[in-house]
Amino acid sequence: MRSKPNILVTGTPGTGKTTTSSALAEATHLRHINIGDLVKDKKLHDGWDDQLQCYIINEDLVCDELEDIMEEGGIIVDYHGCDFFPERWFDRVVVLRTETSVLYDRLSKRGYAGAKLTNNIECEIFQELLEEAKESYKEEIVVAMKSDTVEDMNRNVSEITEWVSSWSSTA
Ligand code: ADP
Ligand code: MN
Repeated sequence: MRSKPNILVTGTPGTGKTTTSSALAEATHLRHINIGDLVKDKKLHDGWDDQLQCYIINEDLVCDELEDIMEEGGIIVDYHGCDFFPERWFDRVVVLRTETSVLYDRLSKRGYAGAKLTNNIECEIFQELLEEAKESYKEEIVVAMKSDTVEDMNRNVSEITEWVSSWSSTA
């Protein structure tokens, strides 16, 4: 049994995973691991995908890299995918959701255009990450949270922080 919980924060790019996870890490003193950064820094990839403009993640290398620290607990994992992590790693899976028009503006501002923009918008419209999370983890640990406004984010961080406190006291 871990003394601190592990949380996965997932969702379509632009829904606020990194912003929410860093605020949550500050509030809970859990450690935030951004998988995108980890993949880049530790070269846990099979090269660059020119078409998708991103690294080709090597899922086995990522899981090997994280196994020991996940076992210890107290980790917030931030990634726009969730089906390749071992199910036993997580005590809570948070899926951030954002209104299409809001997400469109955020991703455009980030410089996404063309197919990359359309693909991500469709990913959100079709709730792909929520479905993936429900297929990969027990339904009772998966929570969808609205992330349209700063107020939404603050509320999400408070709710999860409260959950972390109660988890620690019952463990
Ligand atoms: P992700 O990590 O999911 O790709 P980010 O955390 O990088 O998303 O957020 C993308 C952009 O949207 C950032 O500019 C961030 O400040 C903004 N943002 C994220 N969540 C919210 C929110 N709930 N309300 C308002 N702006 C947000
Ligand atoms: Mn991010």
